[in-house]
Amino acid sequence: MELRPPAVRALLEHLQRLPGVGPRTAQRLAEHLLTIDPGELDSFAAVLAGLRDSVGLCSNCCLLTEDDPCPVCADPGRDRSLILVVEEPTTAWAVEATGEYRGLYHALLGHLSPLHGVGPDDLTIDRLEARCRSGEIQEVILATDPTVEGETTALYISRRLQPLGIAVSRPASGIPVGGEVAAVDRVTLAQALQLRRKV
Ligand code: ZN
Repeated sequence: MELRPPAVRALLEHLQRLPGVGPRTAQRLAEHLLTIDPGELDSFAAVLAGLRDSVGLCSNCCLLTEDDPCPVCADPGRDRSLILVVEEPTTAWAVEATGEYRGLYHALLGHLSPLHGVGPDDLTIDRLEARCRSGEIQEVILATDPTVEGETTALYISRRLQPLGIAVSRPASGIPVGGEVAAVDRVTLAQALQLRRKV
């Protein structure tokens, strides 16, 4: 006999679609949600319901933001001659947490992957190039992940930007090969950005 009420089964199904959540974790999370204070559950539900309406991409740099332009693009105190390019907007959170970076960002929204049919037009490379043509930008740091796809993407972008005559660099070693920029600890990440090398 199926003892789990339909609403709970639906909850479990949704939870199990989250990355890293298997049946046991989903059950633990569901048990927790069923026992927390109703007010807390309501505010959690409101956050989930409002997520899609309130959070979008910055029309300039593609970071996740509630305001457009995002707080980085809108901040007159940032170094507007420097763009740090990341694959995913969330990687910028890790870079920002180092407190060492004062330039602008650009999220590609993925990486080149011919095997999966992801080409330059599927990323925000055109937009990056347009930003670089504005005349303000002097250096672009390509902080794509040190994976095959990330390296391929960095190489492709560096070739695209070459005619513009701006400096293009990669963060120094310290980010493990095959790893993710966002997963590196703050000190290592800050150092990798400081000791970047030209490409
Ligand atoms: Zn922005």
